[in-house]
Amino acid sequence: MTGINTERRPRVLIVATGGTITMVRGPDGGLAPCADTGLLLERVPELRQLADIDVLPLANLDSTNLQPSFWPELSKAIYHRLDRYDGVVVTHGTDTLTYTAAALAFMLQELPKPVVLTGSQVPLDEIGSDGRSNLINAVRVACMDVAEVLVVFGSLVIRAARAKKTSAFDMQAFTSVNAPPVGSIGLTIRMNGEVRPRGKRRALLRAFLRPDVAMIPVYPGLKPEVVAHLVATHAGIVLEGYGAGNIPNAEGASLVPAITEATAQRVPVVVCTQCLVGSTEMELYQVGRASLQAGAIPAMDMTPETALVKLMWVLGQTDDLSTVGSLMLKAFAGELHELP
Ligand code: ASP
Repeated sequence: MTGINTERRPRVLIVATGGTITMVRGPDGGLAPCADTGLLLERVPELRQLADIDVLPLANLDSTNLQPSFWPELSKAIYHRLDRYDGVVVTHGTDTLTYTAAALAFMLQELPKPVVLTGSQVPLDEIGSDGRSNLINAVRVACMDVAEVLVVFGSLVIRAARAKKTSAFDMQAFTSVNAPPVGSIGLTIRMNGEVRPRGKRRALLRAFLRPDVAMIPVYPGLKPEVVAHLVATHAGIVLEGYGAGNIPNAEGASLVPAITEATAQRVPVVVCTQCLVGSTEMELYQVGRASLQAGAIPAMDMTPETALVKLMWVLGQTDDLSTVGSLMLKAFAGELHELP
């Protein structure tokens, strides 16, 4: 059962946004966005064997320069075209791909069909590029019986809000954090059965966004005034704590007063772990409890990238602190294991 109409060829929309996959070398030797990202089909003509494909050149960015305002624009562009296609592929730079993936997963809910992000470590036009295979596999996944926002890269299919760029070198640039990948790519593409199948749902566009959220790792020497300044100038803060979500509370370096002040000012402070694997467990140590008591919201096993985007999205819907807390702890896109 493919869940897709097999009486006709599948239709896939590729939304090009830039990134290495479509980059070329500029006169200075540095990789830069090429003039026409819409030429993807000319560069990978075999895509036509898989599906009828349209290309929408929406942007042409080095994703390092991407700003949050792009996410509602992208999700709306996809939402308004969804009815005409069996699946959507977004080509994107790898640097901020996980932020965009998380944003799409929150902004496009109840998807009846897949939205698949991909990119490459080496430009399509350069020898040894992974762009061709990533793009072909992304189109394949966009034609499968899946209906989520996914990242296809190298040999993995990853749920959007679980993806993390872990390598600036390996062709397997992304891994799935705190959850197994939902599929693997080898001779065939095997999905692990947990991914949601296609259905007759109506997609919901929930393109909320309050972008003035700051994120900062805790590190030895972090001055409490830095965090206090962020609290005074932002609508929300993500603190990447140590280990189980531990935050300094010792005299002179304590961040607890800044968190207390944030709570008084109704500015949510979300604490995630700066470890790659694992969850916050802020009651484990006194250093975690102190922040929890001051009003910090634990991010559990969400990646910092996902916690940041989710806080922007939640603050786009409400500024009520206790609602922010409960929405942060509710799973909308498989981004965390909810507490029982
Ligand atoms: N700087 C590039 C980008 O994010 C890196 C890449 O695509 O691999 O657009």
